[in-house]
Amino acid sequence: MNRLRRKIRRWSKRTVIPAIPEDAREEVLQSLGLLEPLVNGVLKCEVCGTVVTLDNLAMFRVENGEFVFSCDTPSCMISFRISGVEVKDVSDD
Ligand SMILES: [Zn+2]
Repeated sequence: MNRLRRKIRRWSKRTVIPAIPEDAREEVLQSLGLLEPLVNGVLKCEVCGTVVTLDNLAMFRVENGEFVFSCDTPSCMISFRISGVEVKDVSDD
């Protein structure tokens, strides 16, 4: 888990944003301890405050040691994209 956190911290410093493959998404979120809060609906989009779940989570990043999230609203993703880790590809929307 710590190794993954470090990896994500490294990612967040890059300009190219890595995307988590769809089939690895739940595994990655689980290993970060984020799956349960996502399922329980207790996390919020950093930009608009909407409750973020597995259905609308688009990106997250580590900020001051805490995870912050973006929903899949395009305007939120644009605000977030600079340093976020992409969780799903919604470019077709
Ligand atoms: Zn949002």
